[in-house]
Amino acid sequence: TPLLELDDVTFAYPDGTEVLRGVSLSVPAGGRVALVGPSGAGKSTVLALVEGFYPLTGGAIRWAGTDVRDLPRAALRARLGYVEQEAPVLAGSLRDNLLLAAPEATDPELWAVLADVGLTEVVQRSPRGLDVPVGDDGVLLSGGERQRLAIARSLLARPAVLLLDEPTASLDARNEGLLRRTLAAAAADRALLVVAHRLSTVLDSDEIVVLDAGRVVARGTHDELVETS
Ligand code: ADP
Ligand code: ADP
Repeated sequence: TPLLELDDVTFAYPDGTEVLRGVSLSVPAGGRVALVGPSGAGKSTVLALVEGFYPLTGGAIRWAGTDVRDLPRAALRARLGYVEQEAPVLAGSLRDNLLLAAPEATDPELWAVLADVGLTEVVQRSPRGLDVPVGDDGVLLSGGERQRLAIARSLLARPAVLLLDEPTASLDARNEGLLRRTLAAAAADRALLVVAHRLSTVLDSDEIVVLDAGRVVARGTHDELVETS
């Protein structure tokens, strides 16, 4: 039984916009599944449905075989780590931002996760270390740094499935490589569902699902997709 499964999911937004037409995919425990496709294909909508933001129009989403409609919302949320494209940075210190997700985390754990996402330089820029203020009244973080902070925050909460929306959209090549290695390590004990425009972001996924105009138009490993295109 897959950890997370979309079975023939159809969806229209409340305003009637039909966005997904018969989308099926499954994320096994420890698996890395990527959803790629052009802007407007419906990728973010898939993530919103997995989070339970909207009721489906047709089909089902199952968690370890149980229809999510039969799962309490809080139980669902506790298993999911969602990193949005424009992740917010809250006023306060870097530590405050990280501890939101994992109040019990120790400083060595915080340093380790910051190293994983390539954010130690930001901390070292300030003599205040983890207490460096970030957000509107502190050190300004670039888009890529904000994204990596959000990913660090999610990793600390140790969700069973990490949902990432365009995790490398604003990262340069060096940081994209670093992040890909981080995600590979993270997938060792949790599943990943990653949304991306670019195939390069998701090279090492176990399965890549290509979505276009709300339909699955191809699926396979990176090599399989490149061979057939
Ligand atoms: P992607 O993430 O692949 O760029 P989205 O899931 O964001 O695609 O959007 C898919 C389609 O759904 C687009 O046509 C978009 O305009 C539409 N859409 C997204 N959000 C809403 C909404 N809240 N209400 C109505 N239509 C929406
Ligand atoms: P794109 O992937 O094309 O850049 P966005 O991800 O910005 O598009 O999403 C387009 C629209 O889809 C947003 O304006 C928003 O209304 C809707 N949307 C995307 N993700 C979610 C979500 N998780 N929950 C609710 N609405 C969402």
